[in-house]
Amino acid sequence: MDTNAPRKRIKELEVMVADTVQETEDTSTLLLFTGNDRLEYQAGHFLTIDPHQFDALGRFISFFEDVKGRKEPARAYSMSSAPHERFLAITVKEERYTSNVTKYPPLLSPLLVKRTTRGMRLVITGFTGPYVLPPDIDKRAEHLVHICAGSGIVPNYSILKQSLQEHPKLRHTLVYSNKKWDDVIFARELRELEKRHPDRLRVVHTLTREKPELLEGPYGKARTGRISGALLREVIEDPASCVAFACGPGITSHDKAEARRQGTQPAPRFLETSLAALREIGFKEEQLEYESYG
Ligand SMILES: Cc1cc2nc3c(=O)[nH]c(=O)nc-3n(C[C@H](O)[C@H](O)[C@H](O)COP(=O)(O)OP(=O)(O)OC[C@H]3O[C@@H](n4cnc5c(N)ncnc54)[C@H](O)[C@@H]3O)c2cc1C
Repeated sequence: MDTNAPRKRIKELEVMVADTVQETEDTSTLLLFTGNDRLEYQAGHFLTIDPHQFDALGRFISFFEDVKGRKEPARAYSMSSAPHERFLAITVKEERYTSNVTKYPPLLSPLLVKRTTRGMRLVITGFTGPYVLPPDIDKRAEHLVHICAGSGIVPNYSILKQSLQEHPKLRHTLVYSNKKWDDVIFARELRELEKRHPDRLRVVHTLTREKPELLEGPYGKARTGRISGALLREVIEDPASCVAFACGPGITSHDKAEARRQGTQPAPRFLETSLAALREIGFKEEQLEYESYG
């Protein structure tokens, strides 16, 4: 055996679901027990889960593979845990099927969110992804701006926990977009982090469909509407000293294929709109890190 060979970073692991935590009506965290395996991952990395391992999905997979004409790929899930924490955790939001809008019913997320129980075994493959803190982040920025929507909070939550612990000079502003307070993942945990680090973390919630009288909630006073240049200009006073991490739904390969068929351009989604707003207030390309969940 060549003991000098570099250790393979991406590997398949069998893990056990140690617990599940329902975060919102459609989102659950799975705490995964990995035995004694040393886990080499960074905050912001993702793992993948191959749906073929679940007997319960067998007939749906065969049907989808027949209709779509290709093998169903593994799905990616960012870690919501940070590397210093005991359990590996992922947080999954269930995709919905809307009649006459969604092309196919979602395959894996409903099973992970609603039908995964303590003690279940899963095979995961990990860990990888470019959406991590650059090694020279302390030289590049004094202030990290996190721009997230829905389950896009997951890798940023991990990055926040890691950098509040390991990068004491970095300040953070999180601008987090959801429909209503009930959709906000990690609302309580984010509030607690903010209280623990009042000089280093500011959380700004913005809600698109909350009743005006409910904007002031137990986790602060939310803004209303989508993330815009005006909101970002107001909460980021020093764009030149920032690096932004933006994560959420972006234009998908399916959106692009559909637009090509129609001879149009795909409509920008959360990620494209947020990056445009950051550029509008002066962010340069080298200050932008982003991950699309499309
Ligand atoms: C890097 C990365 C990290 C991610 N991290 C997370 C995370 O932390 N948490 C989380 O909840 N999600 C995350 N995601 C999203 C996740 O990987 C899945 O896409 C999501 O869970 C949906 O999977 P599904 O099997 O339930 O739905 P799918 O079966 O993949 O369906 C999703 C949508 O795609 C449409 N679709 C599927 N196939 C086709 C086709 N051939 N043509 C047209 N439309 C089609 C469906 O109609 C549906 O609207 C991440 C994605 C990436 C890329």
